[in-house]
Amino acid sequence: MEPIVIVGAGQAGAQAAQSLRQLGYDGDLVVLGDEGFAPYQRPPLSKKYLAGDMSAEHLLLRPPAFWEKERVDIRPGVHVQSIDVVAKRIQIAGGSLGYAKLLLATGTRARPLHIEGAALVGVLSLRTIADVDRLRPVVARGGRIVIIGGGYIGLEVAAVARSLGLDVTILEATARILGRVVSPEVSAFFTDLHQGHGVRIRTATPIARLEGRDGHVTGVTLGSGETIPADLVLVAIGALPNDTIAAAASIHCQDGIVVDATTRCNAPDIFAAGDCTRFPSALYGRSIRLESVQNAVDQAKAAATAMLGGSVQYDPVPWFWSDQFDIKLQIAGLSQDHDRVIVDGNPADRTFSVAYIRNDTLLAVDAINRPRDHMLARRGVGKPYTPPSS
Ligand code: FAD
Repeated sequence: MEPIVIVGAGQAGAQAAQSLRQLGYDGDLVVLGDEGFAPYQRPPLSKKYLAGDMSAEHLLLRPPAFWEKERVDIRPGVHVQSIDVVAKRIQIAGGSLGYAKLLLATGTRARPLHIEGAALVGVLSLRTIADVDRLRPVVARGGRIVIIGGGYIGLEVAAVARSLGLDVTILEATARILGRVVSPEVSAFFTDLHQGHGVRIRTATPIARLEGRDGHVTGVTLGSGETIPADLVLVAIGALPNDTIAAAASIHCQDGIVVDATTRCNAPDIFAAGDCTRFPSALYGRSIRLESVQNAVDQAKAAATAMLGGSVQYDPVPWFWSDQFDIKLQIAGLSQDHDRVIVDGNPADRTFSVAYIRNDTLLAVDAINRPRDHMLARRGVGKPYTPPSS
């Protein structure tokens, strides 16, 4: 009997392997990952691990002994090159491997910046342990960091870098930071928070090119012609799904590997979970792709059930968090297409929440230092809105 093979040793791959064993799967189980590590958690990469407050060992989702005991054959440093969906084999360097069932849990990669100077030394992105290990010594030397992109990762790195004493500038192309995901009230709060700590934020600021000397980045030139000096540039402009091997195997992909609510792809015995997938959300009435631990874990659990023949309808209330300075932002639901916003509490008190509503139905809640509101929201999304204090 061929093994169950999981491509991608990240949050979803690890969860699926664990769930398969918990659900009683006793056969061979192989997890192939092209990073040099056993499965680890990424959220601390832009928080405690970057700050030097956490070791690489503590990033591991499970210690090596756990995988051994569970007879999960984790193979780090192995890149899957292609899938033969007819022969049910995957190609790796120097050979191939058959599968009874295949789970694609390939995650995302940092969106590259296609601009003059992007290949200079000192221009980095942040997705992996290896990225932070490159970033950290430069950050530790101090100096000036320019962060391109005012999303979660850019803001979290800004907070850590500022706490370590660096001179920090964030360049955001659109009108406000976090503009794609939160309301103007929440953007304004995080702008004040960062500026209060001395981070410079420039919005509506397109960039023209990166400057360098002797192959090393020295600055960022804006569309206006102004150059901002930099010893380090972090490119944090989002992520792209790793769907290339799936697409090459004629598996349906559309900004992500397309799966149905049972986590199946349109190829026999192939499933997918985590950041790399696009799936139907009955809750929101459209297909969505999420980049969150919640989705990686819950969709992987669903995939494990489905792979063993169980019944699954994956339709989650998404949730997410971000830590910046001493503030915890927790988001439940997706706020797009709201027609009303209700702010509960006062941002000046550094504890408030924002409810996003459409036709009296709660779509999402951003909770700032309000864990109770967040937990209530996870139960309330998709239902008629009731204020948290009632
Ligand atoms: P990943 O964890 O990315 O794992 C996919 C793995 O597959 C990778 O190791 C990749 O190299 C490997 N792979 C890809 N293609 C192949 C191939 N062909 N062959 C072999 N291996 C392959 N989420 C939150 O909810 N809260 C947070 O605060 C938060 N902070 C984050 C901070 C950072 C810096 C980053 C990068 C992410 C953060 N996230 C956060 C998102 C969260 O980490 C991801 O949603 C989660 O890791 C997704 O899990 P995954 O298994 O789908 O993908």
